[in-house]
Amino acid sequence: MIGKTVFMENNNLDSSLGLSQLSRSVAGQVVMITGAASGIGRATAYLFADQGARVGVTDLEQKNVDAVVAAITKAGGQAQGWVLDVTERETIGQVVDKVAAWGGGEEPRLDILVNNAGVSLPTALDDPDYEERWDTSVAVMLTAQMLTTRAALPYLRGSTAGRVVNISSTEGVGGSAGASAYTAAKHGVVGLTRSLAVELGPEGITVNAVGPGPIETGMTEAIPEDMKTKFARRRVPLRRYGTPEEVAHGVLHLALPASSYITGHLLMVDGGMTIKNN
Ligand code: NAD
Repeated sequence: MIGKTVFMENNNLDSSLGLSQLSRSVAGQVVMITGAASGIGRATAYLFADQGARVGVTDLEQKNVDAVVAAITKAGGQAQGWVLDVTERETIGQVVDKVAAWGGGEEPRLDILVNNAGVSLPTALDDPDYEERWDTSVAVMLTAQMLTTRAALPYLRGSTAGRVVNISSTEGVGGSAGASAYTAAKHGVVGLTRSLAVELGPEGITVNAVGPGPIETGMTEAIPEDMKTKFARRRVPLRRYGTPEEVAHGVLHLALPASSYITGHLLMVDGGMTIKNN
């Protein structure tokens, strides 16, 4: 069930006490999420809808987008879906415009962009298809984040709380054998995030990244359970894979109006994996 009512009551309580100024509510705000039909993107769409945002759901296939929109609508939330392959430059601008037109009513509006779409294409440097996998990894997970942010910029400038949240990874701060294309893209996300935070800061737009650790999603579903368990016990202080919703809460935090002084940050949601030394 959509938790909007309870949330807004809490908000009213806050303001009636008058102890704080900044809003922890995204109710009424317009958010666009890429790769929103599965895993972290879908959990983010559900969470933002649950908090009263108007959610632009985008992904590769109509039926998958429709399923997310239907689930949100059924629960009483507000969402609309569009097919978007984030490697298609021309389509990106069109879909961003459509989300803003839908979200804003009379005036187009887009407050929050979540750059989430991703693919895992493991490949060793001397594999014959390395360069192809490199190109796809960089196109989907890095170039696309730049393109969608460029397309969204005019709308973010019109928002009172413009926010960009880019999904990176633990591979954004370290590396793994056979993952150099993915790792390069995810490190690139951190660089893009930091530079844009500096560039857009004077306009009050924040740009942050989230670095998920091992999360139970479509991307990791083919990994055998015993391997996941072993990995988590050895590498993750919290000793388990995370859930997509746990990552979504990190995204929401960075997207709140109240997070107005947090920019250029990489928020790890990794169960402590990247700070573990032994
Ligand atoms: P997922 O496979 O469940 O979801 C990824 C979504 O991206 C899918 O719905 C897919 O259709 C979409 N997508 C792929 N290519 C696309 C394209 N060209 N255009 C538009 N959409 C496209 O995986 P997930 O784990 O939810 O991945 C979400 C993000 O989280 C990715 O950026 C991924 O790299 C990152 N991440 C995941 C993990 C993990 O362990 N699952 C860890 C770190 C980072």
